[in-house]
Amino acid sequence: MLVALWEMVLNLLFPRRCPICDEPVRIGEGLACAACLPRISYLGEPTCLKCGKNIAGDAEFCPDCAERSHHFDRGIALFEYQSIAGAVYRFKYSGRQEYAEFFGAEISQKLADDIRRLKPDCLIPVPIHKKRLQAEDTIKLPSWLR
Ligand SMILES: [Zn+2]
Ligand SMILES: [Zn+2]
Repeated sequence: MLVALWEMVLNLLFPRRCPICDEPVRIGEGLACAACLPRISYLGEPTCLKCGKNIAGDAEFCPDCAERSHHFDRGIALFEYQSIAGAVYRFKYSGRQEYAEFFGAEISQKLADDIRRLKPDCLIPVPIHKKRLQAEDTIKLPSWLR
């Protein structure tokens, strides 16, 4: 009860921004605007067994993974990139760390079974390249993501 009240006060002072539209989320709507959620597209089967991208037909791997090797065993993707690209870009380069709660909730709700099935030793985020981090102040959101 006290935590909920504290969150309401914080939300009034510092409104949570929607990862999809980047506008303040109405109190009670959760981690993103209810109207924005249908704009997100999720990947479905079949997917590349290496990187997790959607593929067509009976192929096991996407053309990229069929032609080159990667430094990871398996990747799983949740979103159709174009539908969430603006959120990812702002999360990585524009200081919108508050989106982490939304991404974490989405991953735990929709990928938990896949992750358990793979029994990974650990989950690690892909860190930003140090040159990109150094240039973070100069990175601007491309116009096609606005
Ligand atoms: Zn929104
Ligand atoms: Zn692939």
